[in-house]
Amino acid sequence: MGTKGRQIVGMDVDELVGLLNAALADEWLAYYQYWLGAKVVKGPMKDAVASELLIHATEELGHADLLAMRIIQLGGTPLLSPAKWFTETNCGYDTPEDPFVKEILDQNIAGERCAISVYQKLLSTTKEADPITYNTVLGILADEVEHEEDLQSLAEDLESLLPR
Ligand code: FE
Ligand code: FE
Ligand code: MG
Repeated sequence: MGTKGRQIVGMDVDELVGLLNAALADEWLAYYQYWLGAKVVKGPMKDAVASELLIHATEELGHADLLAMRIIQLGGTPLLSPAKWFTETNCGYDTPEDPFVKEILDQNIAGERCAISVYQKLLSTTKEADPITYNTVLGILADEVEHEEDLQSLAEDLESLLPR
């Protein structure tokens, strides 16, 4: 932990670490949801969808990495057990019971919308108080906005293939 770096944070650092750990839980669950979705997905365009899901999985893992590094910089401890993912998460985990491509896309679109809300909120919390965290969260939010659009655009392409 950097003493001065922690000192300049203009809000309760433990509270901030708690918010970052909740987001860390979200990212791990999103990672697994995408990774698994890419394996089980079935139906039209499944190859295109699977490769996008796999790219997103990698990006969610990158977000987890950024969050964990910031938590450690702040003198906090990243969640030590996967059991905590379920107790700390904001966005939860949507089990892909139905592997049909439309279902998988819809579940992940809902997940991205939740992530966008979480990071939007974290941005306003840190705006004045912690420009370093703000900057990290801004980058993550930009990725989540891109993820939502990627998936919606795949869902639209899929829609045009399905019987109406
Ligand atoms: Fe993410
Ligand atoms: Fe995402
Ligand atoms: Mg993408």
